[in-house]
Amino acid sequence: MTEFAGKYVAAIDQGTTSSRCMIFDHAGAVVAVDQKEHQQIFPQAGWVEHDASEIWDNVRAVAAGAMAAADLTREDIAAVGITNQRETALVWERATGKPIYNAIVWQDTRTDRIATALGGGDANKYTAKTGLPLATYFSGPKIKWILDNVDGARAKAEAGELCFGNMDTWVLWNMTGGTDGGLHYTDPTNASRTLLMDLDTLQWDEGICADMGIPMSMMPEIRSSSEVYGTGRERGPFRGVPISGILGDQQAATFGQACLSPGEAKNTYGTGNFVLLNTGTEKVMSKNGLLTTVCYKIGDQPTVYALEGSIAVTGSLVQWLRDNLGMISSAADIETDARSVDDNGGAYFVPAFSGLFAPHWRADARGAIVGLTRFVNKGHLARAVLEATAYQTREVIEAMNADSGVDLEVLKVDGGMVVNELLMQFQSDILNVKVVRPVVAETTALGAAYAAGLAVGYWESEDDIRENWAEDKTWTPSMDEDQRAKLYAGWKKAVTRTLDWVD
Ligand code: ADP
Repeated sequence: MTEFAGKYVAAIDQGTTSSRCMIFDHAGAVVAVDQKEHQQIFPQAGWVEHDASEIWDNVRAVAAGAMAAADLTREDIAAVGITNQRETALVWERATGKPIYNAIVWQDTRTDRIATALGGGDANKYTAKTGLPLATYFSGPKIKWILDNVDGARAKAEAGELCFGNMDTWVLWNMTGGTDGGLHYTDPTNASRTLLMDLDTLQWDEGICADMGIPMSMMPEIRSSSEVYGTGRERGPFRGVPISGILGDQQAATFGQACLSPGEAKNTYGTGNFVLLNTGTEKVMSKNGLLTTVCYKIGDQPTVYALEGSIAVTGSLVQWLRDNLGMISSAADIETDARSVDDNGGAYFVPAFSGLFAPHWRADARGAIVGLTRFVNKGHLARAVLEATAYQTREVIEAMNADSGVDLEVLKVDGGMVVNELLMQFQSDILNVKVVRPVVAETTALGAAYAAGLAVGYWESEDDIRENWAEDKTWTPSMDEDQRAKLYAGWKKAVTRTLDWVD
């Protein structure tokens, strides 16, 4: 060991569009980062897949890349945390480590019929146990689809030859040795997104697994979000380093934003938007279309729960404009275009590409641009695109206020879209609350690093996390109430135009 031993903590952030490795110091500042995008595979309308082997290659590359960028060796790293796109489901062969099918991504809607059939007319059949409605979003029906549709899969699953994992489990299994003794674990935040975990016991529910035809032998062991699971494998960049934190990406962002007390909430603006409200050790069931989920479980401390408003499409609408329409050449152009006009010109864009998630949960919705006239130009559409993120956020914040009985006063924000100043001001205007961005907007990776660092004593307690959090910028509302009400009413009307589209 050198005098620098254990000076930093690393986080692997396996996201929807890219994989990142970030290295943080004790103050929570970024020391190094490396990132690689992976391919988005769209085999049919509504289907979204990832090549899990490509993702693992990228994770290895960015881990090595971040270490090299700061001239670090494994002795410099005290612990490694993992955070990941949640719900995305992968099945692989235990003996070979080969996926039997691409990972089915959380946005994928192919399980629509499976989810409906499982409910038998009751979309809330499993809600009391799992906190979730039956929807295409969650992992369970995706696993069932793979077992039903890949040749020989079910027989192999029943013979105990297959492993299921979300991307946290895939990364951990490979990082700790893969076929050579890799750990088949997950944490309660990821497990709480499968529709298969009991929120009280933090164990797989055998009855629900049986309903979906999923053998228990496929399921990873559910450990806590912060404990030493094992160490990095031989010949990996983190050989011998404790791997000691796992949090699903949105829970990691909540942790990294220091939303550690009941009533504190954050909104992450990435591919989609995810608002999480810490409800403490109390499991609050929503009456307004929100999810009840595990926020984190640190070692053997009591489980902390959250209410969540998940929005499927926000930043990915900006990507869609860039990649499918070629209307902009980079994501940042959307703000330049939006600033060329004063308002949306009457246009609204409802990006119901994966149906509508919270608070609607309508798999039958599809996207629409409404309110068009000859007057509407590129700038108005750019505004409509950005405004869609803010209106969707208002819908889930209203649901949260109704569920909790307390109106949110400040919204902490993070994620790739929060560099967009026009969006942040509009968000504050349309919500009529303050919007606050922290200095480290990479809260997802930071949260995973905190979970890992706490487990090895690199950070002593959650107070260290609170102390490290620092404000970068605050936006305050400046829109008059009439204007706010008029715009939001227009949005509500636009949403009605997207429903009942798919039979
Ligand atoms: P994820 O972790 O979900 O992969 P990120 O937090 O990295 O996503 O955010 C990336 C998203 O942010 C992309 O969907 C991109 O379109 C969007 N984005 C990036 N820069 C801007 C910008 N300046 N304005 C609006 N959206 C942006």
